[in-house]
Amino acid sequence: AEPPLPLITPRAADLTSRLPKTGETIHGHKFFIGFGGKGANQCVQAARLGAKTAMVCKVGKDSFGNDYIENFKQNDISTEFTYQTKDAATGTASIIVNKEGQNIIVIVAGANLLLNTEDLREAANAISSAKVMICQLEVTPAISLEALTMAHSSGDSKLPGTILSQKPLGDVFSGSQIKGEAVASLRCTALIDSGDAGTACRFTRAPLFPGTDQSIFSLKTLFNPAPATADLDPRFYTLSDVFCCNETEAEILTSLAVSSPADAGKAALVLLERGCRVVIITLGAAGCVLLSQAEPVPKYIPTEKVKAVDTTGAGDSFVGALAFYLAYYPNLSLEEMLKRSNFIAAVSVQTAGTQSSYPYKKDLPLDLF
Ligand code: ADP
Repeated sequence: AEPPLPLITPRAADLTSRLPKTGETIHGHKFFIGFGGKGANQCVQAARLGAKTAMVCKVGKDSFGNDYIENFKQNDISTEFTYQTKDAATGTASIIVNKEGQNIIVIVAGANLLLNTEDLREAANAISSAKVMICQLEVTPAISLEALTMAHSSGDSKLPGTILSQKPLGDVFSGSQIKGEAVASLRCTALIDSGDAGTACRFTRAPLFPGTDQSIFSLKTLFNPAPATADLDPRFYTLSDVFCCNETEAEILTSLAVSSPADAGKAALVLLERGCRVVIITLGAAGCVLLSQAEPVPKYIPTEKVKAVDTTGAGDSFVGALAFYLAYYPNLSLEEMLKRSNFIAAVSVQTAGTQSSYPYKKDLPLDLF
């Protein structure tokens, strides 16, 4: 498990002989600045696979903030909703590492904590029209919840027959009105003008009506509860179409020990029962475990055996890849998406660095696409 990395990651005095004591100055050997932050890493990985992406976040009006935006542009990520503020510095994590690999870290969340409701409103169209939205916990939980609520209520139904005649908002449809699918009842939450085709209706997904076949909805919200806290607001679960965490996070959230696929299956069940539609727990070199409401039996998906050089950011590569598959290959089985995401994350651990180790589509086998 890696330390939480917010935005810029200066590794001050990399590989000092030891960590300094209070009041002490020591010499280090190497200093470098790298780009980080879970959301940014995930976005970069998705973009490198070919996804059209936008990053909704806030950085400072400072040189780190400028570099940060430039990095997004170089990765073909839209910065339309990457806000800059004068009121706080760009978020940083200063990390000092000694030669045993032990570290001390100071995180300053800075501008991350200033991302607010107005910023989200500006991005509302992008959020509701996106195929997938990923959220983490490196901004305030209230803002993550708000973004998840926005995205969740705008998830599309996959049914071809959702074009219906004019219906008032709030009206409840019975299954017979929805072509070709025996669903129980769904409440209309938004009307979309579809020109000659009539008026399409977006349906609410939560609360679900008894007997509703959930599989007709696209998996839109991908929530990565990182860094995790034991007192996670319960709404995060019901707003998560896909809830994806690593072993450590699963332990914090469930108070269960998670060190094997069998343990992960048990923890996933606890998380699923809190209301997510799909739970994925990543297990480092062991791959991941999948559990879904549609198939509530844990499935273990092992990964490639590779020589790991630097596993920092592997989880973000995995989440970014999964978002790409959910958005662009929605007809693949979840198991197949996870096999491919495992593969991509396994590529990322074979070279040093975080974003610098994330593969591009052109460097990957064709059968992943
Ligand atoms: P995090 O980076 O959040 O700690 P994990 O360590 O669980 O997350 O890694 C996420 C994913 O990265 C794993 O599910 C796996 O696909 C891949 N991965 C991580 N470490 C290795 C490794 N040593 N060998 C192969 N794949 C790995």
